[in-house]
Amino acid sequence: MPIPWHHTITTQPRIAGFLDRLASAPPRSLLLEGGTVEERLALGLFWAARLMCPEAKPPCGECRICLQLADDACRDLFLLNGAEGSISIDTIREVRAVLGDPPAGRGPRVVILAEAQALGDGAANALLKSLEEPRPGNVFVLLAPSREILLPTLVSRSFVLTLGWPRSAQDDPDLRDWTVALGEFIQSGKGAWLEWTGRKGNVDARLADAILREVQRSLVQAGYGNPLTDLARLLAARLDVVAVRQVGVVVENALESLEVGANPAVVLEWTAMRMWNLLHK
Ligand SMILES: [Zn+2]
Repeated sequence: MPIPWHHTITTQPRIAGFLDRLASAPPRSLLLEGGTVEERLALGLFWAARLMCPEAKPPCGECRICLQLADDACRDLFLLNGAEGSISIDTIREVRAVLGDPPAGRGPRVVILAEAQALGDGAANALLKSLEEPRPGNVFVLLAPSREILLPTLVSRSFVLTLGWPRSAQDDPDLRDWTVALGEFIQSGKGAWLEWTGRKGNVDARLADAILREVQRSLVQAGYGNPLTDLARLLAARLDVVAVRQVGVVVENALESLEVGANPAVVLEWTAMRMWNLLHK
């Protein structure tokens, strides 16, 4: 099978380079946000391989350890994938039970929580305990679309890296028009938004995905207190921390609906209505 990170280190070279340098002093918990689901997982595995591969230039992508990691067959890797269903408290307890044992290989044990927003509250709190009482030889990686949809205490204990986003309104006038219309709609309930989403065949899944990711990007900026786009400024001005997180969940649900084939125009309309509600409650 192909090494999962080979492609992603070419689409996210900045993050790959950063992880390479970070490996000399790995943070106990690393949070990778932004990018796509595939890119986050690939970079999580790249990070594990960077820490475990014994070759002179790790990760070599060819040795036994690298191949095992690529195949999720390495004893020192725990890959809990929220994309495959919610991550239960029992699963976290099973992981916690082995953290006191030394790792099998020369590197640390790496626990990847992919799509960590799938952690239930109980599981997230159990995980938090592990982050608070560190045992040497264990490294955690949280992967999520954006930090706003995670428990803030998990985020505050993690070193956060933000992947480049797939398509940005800054260099795409069409996308910028859509986000302006969205901003107008969630403020006033008026404007071109519903007219555009309602026009037959006007919205395909790719466009809807790009618009939703632009909203995610704006949420991250609003959450940072560093709003760069008009939409981010609007969200920062109108939403408190809790509401920012709620909008994050709404957008995440919308992206999931798109992935399972929901009508893109309906998904966008529903998302805008929910955002309008959160702004006006
Ligand atoms: Zn290797």
